[in-house]
Amino acid sequence: MNKLLDYFKQNQEKIFEKKIHAYGWKSEYDTIITSSLTKYLFEDLDIIENIAPRTNENRDGRIRDKYYITVHDTGDAFSNHTAKFWSEAVKSEGWEYGKYECSFQYVTGNDGIYHNIPDDEIAYHAGDSTMYDYALYDSGVSGDNIYPHISISSDGYFEIDGRKSKILAPRAKKVKDGLVLYDKIATTDMINSQGILCKLIDGKYYLGETYFNTTYELIANRGGNNNGIGIESCINEGSDIYLTWQRTAKLVAYLLDVNKLDFDAVKQHHYFSGKNCPQTIRMSNMWDHFMELVKFEYQIRQFRKQGYSLKLICDDNRVCDNGRVKTLGDKPIKFIIESEYKGEVEKLELSI
Ligand SMILES: [Zn+2]
Repeated sequence: MNKLLDYFKQNQEKIFEKKIHAYGWKSEYDTIITSSLTKYLFEDLDIIENIAPRTNENRDGRIRDKYYITVHDTGDAFSNHTAKFWSEAVKSEGWEYGKYECSFQYVTGNDGIYHNIPDDEIAYHAGDSTMYDYALYDSGVSGDNIYPHISISSDGYFEIDGRKSKILAPRAKKVKDGLVLYDKIATTDMINSQGILCKLIDGKYYLGETYFNTTYELIANRGGNNNGIGIESCINEGSDIYLTWQRTAKLVAYLLDVNKLDFDAVKQHHYFSGKNCPQTIRMSNMWDHFMELVKFEYQIRQFRKQGYSLKLICDDNRVCDNGRVKTLGDKPIKFIIESEYKGEVEKLELSI
């Protein structure tokens, strides 16, 4: 069996159903998502170019190096607020509620993947301002743990695996109408749930640029707007949210590949501001699953670059051509993945 088929065989999992809640700013709903035949979505990445005019106020135009892929959801459950709708809101700088000042590179939905702002430009989606770029500062701490625990000492310095760094954490300070509501040393529980940027380079730890976000009252990271490629994902009522997640994962895998970034570069909007976004993925505890979709898509992308082809063959009417499962039912679903490599065609038969 060729390597691509073996990868599918080794990583095949049961289809699951899960009740989730979709969070919109004005309306919310419960829905049941069903996973797909595989973590790979059997369709090509199709990006619809709908770039905002250079004269738009929400198109910054400044070029930056990209270190992050920033994942959002629209937080908007209106059934007609599709990817095209949001793409047009960016392009026309307006929607039914007035001026639309935000922008993002991509928006994904059941109706496609729309591209709004060139990848290398700044866009306005992460809530961390555009005043600070990605930066790394020598912490003065060395070690060998790639994912150390970050805390804040009682006198306000970042600690890395319990060792005090020479970098002061931002103070927890909130000012309203010129009045200081509080101004105190921040504590570890004020660090956003995705943590802060910490890189281990040649045995030394470097920390990123952080700040205290007064809206969400959490310590977050800079560089979201400037150094991230922002992706909005639709959660509109009546849509297949799992399909949107798989399309988003395919897009993320592509962006990681072409920008030569690793999986740690994929961050939630939350990482840059403390906002509960992408809220529907976060609240349904599906972020780790989403990252599994990204990794699977990335791996299949590598196989395809090496010359492996793949095709799904399934004539069960519960399954779409792209491997999406419409209804689960009781009987197992049989399908075949066909792959050609160096002129040799092989098939993998699966039943789940
Ligand atoms: Zn967001």
